Amino acid sequence: MGPRALYTLLLLPCLLGPHVRSEEPPEGGEEHKDHPPGPGHHHWSYTDIAEWGTDFPDCGGMAQSPINVDTKNTTFDPQLTPIQLSGYDLAASETLKLENNKHTVVLKLPDSLKIVGGLPHIYQAAQLHFHWGSESSPGSEHTVNGRRFPGEIHVVHYNTEYKSIDKAIKQPGGLAVLAAFIEEGPEDNPEYQHLLEHLEAVTDGGQSVEIPGFDIRGLLPQQLDRYFRYNGSLTTPPCFQTVNWTIFNQTILLSAKQVAVLEDTIHFDHDHLLQMNFRDPQPLNGRRVFSSFRGPVGGRKAAGAAPHPTVSSPESDVSSAHDPEPGGHSQEDPPLGTGDMLAIIFAILFTFTAVSFYAYVRRTRKTNQRSSDSKSNVIYKAATAEENMA
Ligand SMILES: [Zn+2]
Repeated sequence: MGPRALYTLLLLPCLLGPHVRSEEPPEGGEEHKDHPPGPGHHHWSYTDIAEWGTDFPDCGGMAQSPINVDTKNTTFDPQLTPIQLSGYDLAASETLKLENNKHTVVLKLPDSLKIVGGLPHIYQAAQLHFHWGSESSPGSEHTVNGRRFPGEIHVVHYNTEYKSIDKAIKQPGGLAVLAAFIEEGPEDNPEYQHLLEHLEAVTDGGQSVEIPGFDIRGLLPQQLDRYFRYNGSLTTPPCFQTVNWTIFNQTILLSAKQVAVLEDTIHFDHDHLLQMNFRDPQPLNGRRVFSSFRGPVGGRKAAGAAPHPTVSSPESDVSSAHDPEPGGHSQEDPPLGTGDMLAIIFAILFTFTAVSFYAYVRRTRKTNQRSSDSKSNVIYKAATAEENMA
């Protein structure tokens, strides 16, 4: 990897990271001496968003991110299969670099982490980072039906068809970002604690620390099968329009204390907290937003009043929601013979078994839902909406 590639790795992989001059790379400073001039080599900040387009022309493009997801105008796409991850469960012996780059806090990820399902290519991870607000104001980048959430996680991946993220970042579909919303819940989220407990070590801009590996999967929602998908951009300069976005429907719950740690620890310089590090929603300009699941509008009517489960465990895939139609198996009156009688008896037994099994599955799902509620939530409940409409 040449200096430029290394530079880009540090600079761009993030939707947020560009750390453009990296004045004081805390370790090594491997790449910052020989920046070629050109776009992307200027300072930027969240206080001069209106100026981004001057130094970074792509920021004024027609396919920018973030966006507001209007759930009434999303299109169900049955080809959006569940997101499948590989290699996310890192051993504690592995060390990861956590860095305050003055725009966000970034956790560098080894390229053994991959998205192997739910996208048209294999993508490997580069880093993850966060966007947040302040005590009095939420700070997610994407919004849903106009609602902004307290925070948002972005896990940045690049298409393995390209040799480096440096190449991928400029190609359509070169990047894939998994995004999820952070909300406040009643309990500490133990998965997030693996990361939050180290923020104290990187309070000042430019600081970094090595932290032990953990299961990165735990930073994402349990449900990876329900999401929104659209084509957009990096949400920070240079704003390249090369990102295949996945926004999970289920949110992540952190305790109020944990949300406060995210909001009140990272400084961009000695005296100034870094807060409200998000960009406002950008115009869709005719882009379509797809969903991997059916909503109340335009959705196929569920047979037998059996809407899809509101929350299912990550193990149960969408297809398992195709319930048998209980009570729908009306038998025609057959001519009566011994064989026919037996057939009827078996049919009745079968129906009874099917209905019992169906009831059991529903009960189990509800239990799962309850048990997962403490750590996650859903932002858009198609089933509930259907019930309301009925
Ligand atoms: Zn981001």
